[in-house]
Amino acid sequence: MADFRNIPKGTEPDWYWHVNGIVQFLKEDPWKVYVPPYRLGPHIWNVSGNPDNGAYLIDTGDGLIMVDAPYYYGLELQLKAIEEAGYDLKDIKYIWITHPHGDHFGAAVPLAERTGAKIWMSREGEAWWGRRKAAGVMRPSDGGYDDFPIDFYYDDYNPFTMGNMTFRFEFHPGHCEGSMVMFFEDTDPDTGKTYKVGMHGGIGTCNSKWVEREGSPLWHYYRYIADNLQMAEMDDIDITLPNHENQTNMHTGINLNDRRDYSAFVNRDVWKNLMIQKSELAIKEG
Ligand SMILES: [Zn+2]
Repeated sequence: MADFRNIPKGTEPDWYWHVNGIVQFLKEDPWKVYVPPYRLGPHIWNVSGNPDNGAYLIDTGDGLIMVDAPYYYGLELQLKAIEEAGYDLKDIKYIWITHPHGDHFGAAVPLAERTGAKIWMSREGEAWWGRRKAAGVMRPSDGGYDDFPIDFYYDDYNPFTMGNMTFRFEFHPGHCEGSMVMFFEDTDPDTGKTYKVGMHGGIGTCNSKWVEREGSPLWHYYRYIADNLQMAEMDDIDITLPNHENQTNMHTGINLNDRRDYSAFVNRDVWKNLMIQKSELAIKEG
């Protein structure tokens, strides 16, 4: 795997500073931007450790699932956050990559090596990667793909059950081919309440220029708008897990006195608003 930590200062490629320079912080002084873990649902913690995006640790009752492992330089922050949340690295069985962009899978390989966890991705995402590589196109997400092990593929026909949870997958292109969308239920043993959880793993940027840059057909742009508007009709998603913090302003929901308090994240408007807002933005940007 390419080691981007060895890129000499001042010679970084353009892509290096993307996402508001978060990579620079993660590379040079990651603890400056460390975000301690916080709970978003009865058995869901955000353990990305960074202020930009989410990495969700899901405690199924029979092992842990880590959804995304953002940024190659984000690994140490994630390890710290997992520990602070009270979990053991060795219990992570799977790393689920929502879509093959580096800001979501960058730490997946080293995390898999540390934990023995198996990596999941979509077949569509893998095929897209293959085409990108064949075309010789490089962007941040391409870093280190040569050694990228994919142990399992999501199945959009059969839900996956682990411990107390059953996950249903869908795939929606636009932001990235093979972006995984998933739904599951999480029950709080203290209150007996069950929450429906939704995560759109490809709700990031999408416009016609973006799709072209990604090497995808133009219809993926229209599909993104249509799919999101259709998903906006879902009015029973209690808890929304965003790709990036700013999509739902997750940080405003943290109870700084009690990071286990997830009550602010139970809000059925969030899913609907996110789907509509992203569709409208895609239409506006053209
Ligand atoms: Zn992305």
